[in-house]
Amino acid sequence: ATIGGLLNDTAARFPDRPAVVFREQGIRWTWREFADEVDVLAAGFAAAGIKAGDRVGIWSPNRVEWLLTQFATARIGAILVNVNPAYRLAELEYALNKSGCCAIVTAESFKSSKYVEMLQTLAPELAQCEPGQLRAARLPQLRLVVRMCDTATPGMMTFSDLIEAGRVARERIDPAAIDKTLSAHDPINIQFTSGTTGNPKGATLTHRNVVNNARYIAMAMRFTEHDALCIPVPLYHCFGMVLSVLASVSAGAKMVFPGEAFDPVATLAACAEERCTALHGVPTMFIAELDHPDFASFDLSSLRTGIMAGSPCPIETMKRVVARMHLSEITIAYGMTETSPVSFQSATDDPLDKRTSTVGRIAPHLEAKVVDPSGKTLAVGETGELWTRGYSVMRGYWDDEARTKEAITDGWMHTGDLATIDDEGYCNIVGRLKDMLIRGGENIYPREVEEFLFGHPKVQSVQVFGVPDEKYGEEVCAWIVVRPGEQLTEDEVRAYCQGQIAHYKVPRYIRFVDEMPMTVTGKVQKFVMRERMIGELQ
Ligand code: ATP
Ligand code: MG
Repeated sequence: ATIGGLLNDTAARFPDRPAVVFREQGIRWTWREFADEVDVLAAGFAAAGIKAGDRVGIWSPNRVEWLLTQFATARIGAILVNVNPAYRLAELEYALNKSGCCAIVTAESFKSSKYVEMLQTLAPELAQCEPGQLRAARLPQLRLVVRMCDTATPGMMTFSDLIEAGRVARERIDPAAIDKTLSAHDPINIQFTSGTTGNPKGATLTHRNVVNNARYIAMAMRFTEHDALCIPVPLYHCFGMVLSVLASVSAGAKMVFPGEAFDPVATLAACAEERCTALHGVPTMFIAELDHPDFASFDLSSLRTGIMAGSPCPIETMKRVVARMHLSEITIAYGMTETSPVSFQSATDDPLDKRTSTVGRIAPHLEAKVVDPSGKTLAVGETGELWTRGYSVMRGYWDDEARTKEAITDGWMHTGDLATIDDEGYCNIVGRLKDMLIRGGENIYPREVEEFLFGHPKVQSVQVFGVPDEKYGEEVCAWIVVRPGEQLTEDEVRAYCQGQIAHYKVPRYIRFVDEMPMTVTGKVQKFVMRERMIGELQ
């Protein structure tokens, strides 16, 4: 099926059931209302000249316009390009030009970034052009800028203008008819990776990639139209777009958006007030919710399931989530943008210890293997790089054949992650290949040291990584955020390690910090930490 087809099936099955809630924007739609709004916007895009294969950028935090644009572009076969909400001028220019966007839908601003102003800076020609007729020196392919607010601005269309154009055009443009001409193998999305290990890469994904992935994700959580999912993760990322939105659409589950940006209180309030049955998040989000001083004041008794994913999920956090948030059927998913994204996910009926300590088993219709650096398959229980293959693997990185070739061999996606698969098929993600450090010939997996240090009662969060060292090649470095109101010293940390973990794993450098450098998707950027430590140690 296509994405448009998926939505329309659900709208036909559950027309009057609740579909979408944007709490900050005061929006509550049923499936029929939502599907209608999508078709109006799709007609608006078509009337503005957007055709199948055209790239349309979206630059916005979690807002209803985002959701509408996701489905409306898919409905007419346009390719959605999700532009990172944290981008500034140079990155925006690069992303729009690299993907060849002919249109962009933009929020006013987000946090301290003034999106509309930045576009006006990059394209001063906007001041002199008719909406949709832009010719800008620095953004040569961009024609149309759509602004998510009702202030008329030279050269730009407002989102309401586009909707209005769609209402008028709908008499002659039928999005359902356009949808019928599309193939499930057509690309619909250039989805950028998180940029955890460097610059984000644009993965080209098709309808088939993401629609199928979403179905199996929903099945693993036993999702139905009676579920309501709280979505604090960014729509910008595949966690929002596929695991949250498309999985809900495939089951007819209600989607509840607490706000534009992640906030632990808004998330907990949304779960309690909307009687959500499911909650998604990266580990740092669950930790922020659990540790919030007002945590106990929210009634979370309606919660049942959800997904923790995106980075290593500490066993302790999983246990607290099960015990304190009513998430007895929570699952862990593992995947990457390039594989649409999920390739492993625990199921609600897996034994609890497997669900807290592994990422589950390979998802239906996919294959996995663990290989050594030469690409040779390793035996069960051995640690090596994880490769996955099947319907979910991306077409490639957009306009980057060289990197695509490096990443995919005979259909096998090289995940860049180290994993072990046990004899029952449960997979343990040991960490990123790039993060593994070799100290004096010993392989050290940061995750193992992190899990150990995280067990210290005064540690709120901890990250371990390697820094270059003349004598040993690399040395272990730990950054620690101490729990509020607590004091911790280097000596205490070393004493805690004494006799508990091998001497070479004990961090040589320990730093106490207020927070870790993070991507917008809530992932810790070890490469930034490493660069800072190298600077400090010089
Ligand atoms: P970039 O590729 O730009 O450096 P990224 O790899 O973080 O960033 P994503 O595609 O968002 O970009 O994330 C995929 C990665 O996230 C995986 O390769 C893996 O390292 C990590 N990951 C995802 N889920 C899990 C999980 N459940 N446990 C451990 N790691 C996970
Ligand atoms: Mg990656």
